[in-house]
Amino acid sequence: MIPFLDLKGLNAQYKDKLIEACTRVIDSGWYIQGNECKEFENEFAEYCGTKHAIGVANGLDALILILRAYKELGVMKDGDEVIVPSNTYIASILAISQNNLVPVLVEPNIDTYLIDPIKIEEKITSKTKAILPVHLYGQTCDMDAINAIAKKYNLKVIEDSAQSHGAYYGEKRSGNLGDASGFSFYPGKNLGALGDGGVVTTNDDTLASTIRALANYGSHKKYENIYKGINSRLDEMQAAMLRVKLKYLDIEIEKRREIANYYMQNIKNEKIILPIQNSKLNTQNYSNHVWHLFVIRTEKREELQKYLLDNGIQTLIHYPIPPHKQNAYKEWNDVSYPVSEKIHEEVLSLPIGGAQSLEDTIKIVQAINGF
Ligand SMILES: *Cc1c(COP(=O)(O)O)cnc(C)c1O
Repeated sequence: MIPFLDLKGLNAQYKDKLIEACTRVIDSGWYIQGNECKEFENEFAEYCGTKHAIGVANGLDALILILRAYKELGVMKDGDEVIVPSNTYIASILAISQNNLVPVLVEPNIDTYLIDPIKIEEKITSKTKAILPVHLYGQTCDMDAINAIAKKYNLKVIEDSAQSHGAYYGEKRSGNLGDASGFSFYPGKNLGALGDGGVVTTNDDTLASTIRALANYGSHKKYENIYKGINSRLDEMQAAMLRVKLKYLDIEIEKRREIANYYMQNIKNEKIILPIQNSKLNTQNYSNHVWHLFVIRTEKREELQKYLLDNGIQTLIHYPIPPHKQNAYKEWNDVSYPVSEKIHEEVLSLPIGGAQSLEDTIKIVQAINGF
């Protein structure tokens, strides 16, 4: 069976260095908020080109903490609205709800699967305080258009970069394209920990220090609590391993690009729609896809998935149920988001990852072409 993602094989490449990193942590006797986290924050901020990076417990917390900090700073209050794509992983939307803010769903572009800037403006009200674009599948959104709207209406731009570590938009990387950004280091992400982890990046000093306090019981100074904070920290073990893997992130992205290019050039089947890269739609600024997921679309999705499985190829669906059809958001169940619904009915993610062999990639292409 060709797995969707060979995580074991991926981490096996770095096993000696990971063990070395773990040993360093064990021997240090310091397991939370120590040197590894600090060094990783510096290295990740440098990688993204931002002034700050704040390690947190996971990607959802990263987004929750950004919004929470804006509330503490008086930029937002209960009941304010945040614009978010209608086709995203539920976490982007949960982060808004958890802060007693109101998610306002905007449909994506059917070609790129990214939030459609043209549809944002009509959803802006006097309560709108932020736009939360999601660089879904590893491709950055149309940030020039989004930032222009944000500027016009005085809104914050909060990137969900959980799927786009390392992706460029023009000269800048994901994480440095808005006011603040949340990343996830869930093991399957392009930069994955061996457990949970996340980070917030920003160039805003006040926001950074507020998030740092909120993530640590609302405290800047031990036993002095300014806010009703939470406990959300990136532990030393995960930070040490992430430091190892960050050094290879660009190589991992390159490997993904090779597989994606092979798919793009060799999959030839009229029933299948290949991904469309933003760069082809927007020549002024390029967006170089980091291919967290290689997502094709077909009206025969169920059939294709079964056919591939019968041929020993594992595929996944990102995502089978759109957020507005989830039980968690019953209030939206009767609202129609046709673009999002079409995407959720037709998408299929092919295997892709740093440990995938060319032999397997060729097999996958041959199987798909024979469908
Ligand atoms: C993975 C993911 C998250 C959440 O990250 P966790 O670390 O699992 O909490 C948020 N948004 C998107 C788009 C994701 O893919």
